[in-house]
Amino acid sequence: MNTAAETDRTSRCPVCSGAELRSETRTETFDYDGDGDKVQVTVDKVPVEVCPACGEVFSGPEAGRIRNEAICKALGYLTPQEIRRVRERLNLTQAGFAQLTGIGEATISRWERGRLIQNRAMNQYLSLLAYDPGIEVTLLRIKFLQKAGGSLFVDADNSQSGNQVADVLQQ
Ligand SMILES: [Zn+2]
Repeated sequence: MNTAAETDRTSRCPVCSGAELRSETRTETFDYDGDGDKVQVTVDKVPVEVCPACGEVFSGPEAGRIRNEAICKALGYLTPQEIRRVRERLNLTQAGFAQLTGIGEATISRWERGRLIQNRAMNQYLSLLAYDPGIEVTLLRIKFLQKAGGSLFVDADNSQSGNQVADVLQQ
């Protein structure tokens, strides 16, 4: 089982060609800005490859996945596994989940594999579905109304609840 990728991994440093790359795990600390939410992230056991000659550090998809999961936790966002859990609890494939939510299927796949971090607005959207799977029915109703050209403002005259939300946000 000597694949090209494996051969590549034990090859010389592509930057300086001065030495063989060495595998190691390290702890990383870095700042991350999630739509204005700045957090400091510490990640343990990130698998990387280091050139002993020039010190260049190389990391692959697994390192990226581990970093993304740590960033999600630091921001209080749903982790890749939790996003997958939201979808599976609704008994939907990635294609079905894309259809229900209007989110691109490729985007959902990247989130679940830890290749991409959802933005804050998308995290709130996913959180609604995590907190209340019944939102699925609401989404389906909205889709139906949009197709039928009906009004989405079922409770337009009730400004009371709107004021309560504003009060909570100001606290
Ligand atoms: Zn090097």
